[in-house]
Parts: sequence; C-alpha cells; structure tokens
Amino acid sequence: MNPLLRQLPQVSKLVERFKGTYPEAIVKEAVRDVISRYRAEILEGARNSLSGLEKDIEEEILRRIKPNLRRVINATGVVINTNLGRAPLAREAVEYIAKIASGYTNLEYSLSKGSRGSRQEHVEEILCRLTGAPSAMVVNNNAGAVYLVLNTLAQGREVIVSRGELVEIGGSFRMPDIMRSSGALLVEVGTTNKTKVQDYVNAISEKTALLMKVHRSNFFIEGFVEEVGVGYLVKIAKDSSLPFYYDIGSGLLLEEERLLGFRTGEPSFAECIKEGVSVVSGSGDKLLGGPQAGIILGEREIVERLKRNPMARALRVDKLTLASLEKTLRIYLEGRPEDIPVIRMLTEKETALKKKALKLKRLLKGFKDLEVGVLRDVSRPGGGSLPSLELPTYCVVLKHRKLSTSELSKRLRLSDPPVIGRIKKDLLFLDVRTVFDSELKLIKVSLEKALGLT
Ligand SMILES: *Cc1c(COP(=O)(O)O)cnc(C)c1O
Repeated sequence: MNPLLRQLPQVSKLVERFKGTYPEAIVKEAVRDVISRYRAEILEGARNSLSGLEKDIEEEILRRIKPNLRRVINATGVVINTNLGRAPLAREAVEYIAKIASGYTNLEYSLSKGSRGSRQEHVEEILCRLTGAPSAMVVNNNAGAVYLVLNTLAQGREVIVSRGELVEIGGSFRMPDIMRSSGALLVEVGTTNKTKVQDYVNAISEKTALLMKVHRSNFFIEGFVEEVGVGYLVKIAKDSSLPFYYDIGSGLLLEEERLLGFRTGEPSFAECIKEGVSVVSGSGDKLLGGPQAGIILGEREIVERLKRNPMARALRVDKLTLASLEKTLRIYLEGRPEDIPVIRMLTEKETALKKKALKLKRLLKGFKDLEVGVLRDVSRPGGGSLPSLELPTYCVVLKHRKLSTSELSKRLRLSDPPVIGRIKKDLLFLDVRTVFDSELKLIKVSLEKALGLT
C-alpha cells in the first residue's frame, strides 16, 4: 500500500477540526469529497504530498456554503445586461422590498373597504398617471405579456406582423414561437428590410384579429429599409376596426429626449398611448429600470379582457415585484428619474466617467506585473435595448506582464466579488459606466484575490 494513503487522516478527525467553525453536515460532505479526491490522485501517482489538505477542505467547505446567486461587478459598460440580471434597482425600491417582504401587506385587501382588493391596483393608477393610459396591468415579464395579449385577443385568429420584426430576443424567446404557443396565427407581411402600408392593408381579412408591431430591441437594420410608423398602423387598424398592439420591448416609460437627453428612436409607453395604440407592452427591468415584470397599458375594454383570461393568474406578479415596481414608478412621478440606476448610468456625463476611471486607476496602481491605464472608449450601453446607441465612456485598462489577458479576465471572474469586464485588443477593459462608486474599492479586493495576494 502506498504510504501516503496510510497517512491520510481519518474523516472523523478532520470533521472534528472544522465543525466548530462550519455546519457539521457541510463539513462532512466536504471532507469526504476532498479525501476521496486525494486518494484517487495518490493512486494515479498525481500526488506525492498531503500538504494543502486542510486548506483544500476549507476551500471546499466555503464553496459549498457560498450562495449560487451572487452579486457581481458589471464592468462591461452594458447597462441592460440580461446575463448579469438587467436593471439594478434603485436603493429605495430595494429597501421597500425588505419592508414589505418581512411582514403582512394589503396585497389583495382593500383597507378602505375592509374586503378583498386587487393586487393590480397598487401600480395601475400610477402607470396611468405617468403615461396617460386609460388602463394598465402588470404580469410576470414581457414574454408573458405578449403571450397574454395574443392569447386573449387572437387565439385561433390571425395576427399581422412585419417579417422584419419576427425577432429572437435571446435564450429561446423567438417571436414566431410565442405567437404559435399563444394560439394566434401568424401572418407575415413585407420583406426582411421593407414593409409598406399596403402590405398590411392587403393582408387584412375577416380572419384578422390584430395588427402587431414588435420593436427590434437588440439589433437594427440600416440601408435600404422601410417600415410603417406607429401613426400609420394606428390609422390602418382604426379603418378596419381592429386593435393595434405594439410590443415595445425595452419599456422606456417616457419620451427618450425627456429621460435620456438624446434620441435614437426608442419608443416609449407614453408616446404609444399618445399616438393611439390600442395596447402596448414592455419589460419592467430594461429601460424602465425596475424589477422583472411585463407592463401592459391600453384601452380599458382590452385590459379588462386580459385580466379575465385564466392565464393572467398563471402570469401574475408577486408582492416583491409590486413593491419595487411601485417605488420605481413613484421616483418617476416625483420627477427624479436620475435616482434610477439605469437612467443614471445612461446619462452619466463624460467628465464624471473620466473622474471615476481615474479614481479606479489610482486604486489599482502598484500591483506587481500589472500595467494600468485609462482609455477613452465607446460603450454600447443598450445590450438588449437601444441597439444602435454608442456613448463615449472611460475605461480602466489592464495588462498583466505574465498572465494572458484571457487568464486575467478569468481570474477576476472567479474572484470574490466576481468582476466582469470586456477584452479588446488583448487588453482587459473595465468600463466604469456600469460600476457603482461603492464597488470601486471592491474591484481592488477582487484583483488582490485574483492575483493571489491574499
Ligand atoms: C425583451 C423583449 C421581450 C421579452 O421581455 P422579457 O421581459 O424578457 O420577458 C419581448 N419583446 C421584445 C421586443 C423585447 O425586447
């Protein structure tokens, strides 16, 4: 027998060593795991010492204790980053979640009447006041909203959509698939790059239930292109007594110029209502800057039908979503959109970004073998929204003399807290647009761990 195998301590001894510090059940699992790994490595001849055993066990325990869903630092510059959880919530929205979640609430109880109320009431009136909509409703997410609208208004009947708008949103969400599963029959009109008024008009028949427009949230087409504007679609629908549904995707609440100070053509809820769209839906956690939700605004009669659909129950939002959504909407009502992180990040001034980058650079100076600089660059802050938008930004740029840039990037990703940047020209770019001030020092901590200094 290999003498090293004999030297392996007993499981119970190792468990004894750690169980005062960590939960015993987890210690046992971790010890068994590491011991059997060591045993296999010794037998394979891949290990010739037991030094590091206790350290490996402790690491294994920590790995098992750490939550899977963790806070990460987004240094990609992409504000609406679906992989990284989309919109970070405003602080007051987060505090309100904690308050509502830790006790009982009037979620479905009318305090004035002393009887059953509707969970929708808490946000419906505010949404209407903000956008001028006659009626409003909130569901789990915008994919759910699309499903509910189509299933309610067009099951077994035809929905006319431009071929250029049959988009894939990401993951497995493809517009034609969701339309099919809602029971609506898709009628594609126009071509990929051009759809004209006459294409819609010619497709309308007695089987038509709905005219639909889908915002191309995550890409744009340029060149020989033509699409029918919202105003025209409203008129075509009215002339045929059909409802017109616009899925605006990103859920910008008010006019782009008013909220962001620039114009890329991103539609907003308020403009859609003003133009006379019958029903419009968008996400709560994209440009609106709130929690995951599907926000539906529209004519009272249509929204009432949506609420009566049994699927509305399956798609309903929980109280935590309502709590944070209401707080987020109240920030808009109070005229402080800059207090919503998404809006603040999209409108952050170049001078402020430069200052933040220089501050981060100072913090990251002095690591051995690490070159640190600041470069002006452009961020594509939209990700799944504002696809054509590029904004000037400042990045802290890292280059390690011994580690490859992909290795450095990987180590930062696996560090604590994880830091996600972007690689460009063999340099690691940390775009400060999406980094909170409170996270600057944490990037230093993360880098210390990534380079093995702690
Ligand atoms: C993002 C998006 C959706 C899906 O919204 P979720 O909130 O992610 O469910 C649907 N339609 C469009 C146009 C989108 O951009």
